Amino acid sequence: MTYDILIRNAVTRTSSGKRVDVAIAGGRIARIAPDIKEGAAEVFDAAGSLVSESFVNGHLHLDKVYTLEKVGMAALSSYTSGSMGGAMTAIEQASKVKEGYDEKWIIQNVRKALDLAVKFGNTHIRAFTDVDTKAKLEGVKALIKAREEYKDRVTVQIVAFPQDGIARDPGAEGWVRKALELGADVVGGIPWIEYTEEDMQDHVDRMFALAVEFGKDVSMLLDDAGDAGLRTVEMLAKKTIKEGWEGRVTVQHARAMSLYPEPYYRKIEHLLKVARIGLVSDPQTGPLYARVKDLYAAGVSVALGQDDIADAYYPFGRNNMLEIAFLAAHLMWMTTFDDMKILYDLVTTNAAKALGIADFALAEGNPANLVVVDAASEWEAIWNHEAPKLVVKAGRNITAKRA
Ligand SMILES: [Zn+2]
Repeated sequence: MTYDILIRNAVTRTSSGKRVDVAIAGGRIARIAPDIKEGAAEVFDAAGSLVSESFVNGHLHLDKVYTLEKVGMAALSSYTSGSMGGAMTAIEQASKVKEGYDEKWIIQNVRKALDLAVKFGNTHIRAFTDVDTKAKLEGVKALIKAREEYKDRVTVQIVAFPQDGIARDPGAEGWVRKALELGADVVGGIPWIEYTEEDMQDHVDRMFALAVEFGKDVSMLLDDAGDAGLRTVEMLAKKTIKEGWEGRVTVQHARAMSLYPEPYYRKIEHLLKVARIGLVSDPQTGPLYARVKDLYAAGVSVALGQDDIADAYYPFGRNNMLEIAFLAAHLMWMTTFDDMKILYDLVTTNAAKALGIADFALAEGNPANLVVVDAASEWEAIWNHEAPKLVVKAGRNITAKRA
């Protein structure tokens, strides 16, 4: 038999340094074994480099990429100053950019960010787009267009996200409904931003009702400020169990978790496990971050996200998940070899679990979503955080041409 692609002389994360070949046919990993004899339409010599699952980005505000200069620096300083007491003010300041929202310029920025995703082997992205009384459907329309254009290279899961609240932005709920009718994949939410506990609970309930009505997964930004008293992670976890939506929900950010009292943190950790909720953290975009290492040790599907690319909240970003892992290694002080293996999981297999992407592991029979990185180990890959030498999405070679 002849394969579509044959990767020769690669090491895997579990081959203990031994070289294997990886054969791909019909979009799937057909075989992983030493010295595969059959030929292939395309043969790639990995020369001892590491082959692994491709990268997964659990959180990106894709409608806002490259808008920093439009918004100015005020919001960014409010979001990241001190212990994040001004996170709400930052969102209010950043909201101004949406008065000029237009699908036409947004799509150009989105393409730039998705081209980088292809270059860096980032094949699956959970992409948030603001859907509210200012942004209306401009962002979601741009993302739906991009989802189609890039579907062979990047799977874009579009989250309809009412960034400015539901009670605080009357009418936003109707725009989320319209976005779902138009084809958004996931229901968003940001209950912590509402002014009262009642409004926060109502925000969770109303967004969840839309998720149930449309049969969609849920991804909400929760407890994302320097306030130990925030309780929206708990609200969403309880709601998930009540609605039987286990395994279909992610918590995004939850930076206040780092301030929770220990006994309360342990209750939340337990609830996240029972509700099979994934958690995506973005330590590089704010001075606080969720307890990633503890959640990982507890068996929660925790992952890392890019969050922002040059927008009102963060000035950098290249959609390079190895770069995110590199930054996280410093911010979370995870520098042992064991830590680096965890970091690698957080941007590949764990992230896939958090986003509900099935059969993602590098294993025979699974869809072929993989990269050959320019390194021989997880350590070297994170250290150099360079673009992979080979990127395969659903069995096709989509490697970007090197300049
Ligand atoms: Zn975010």
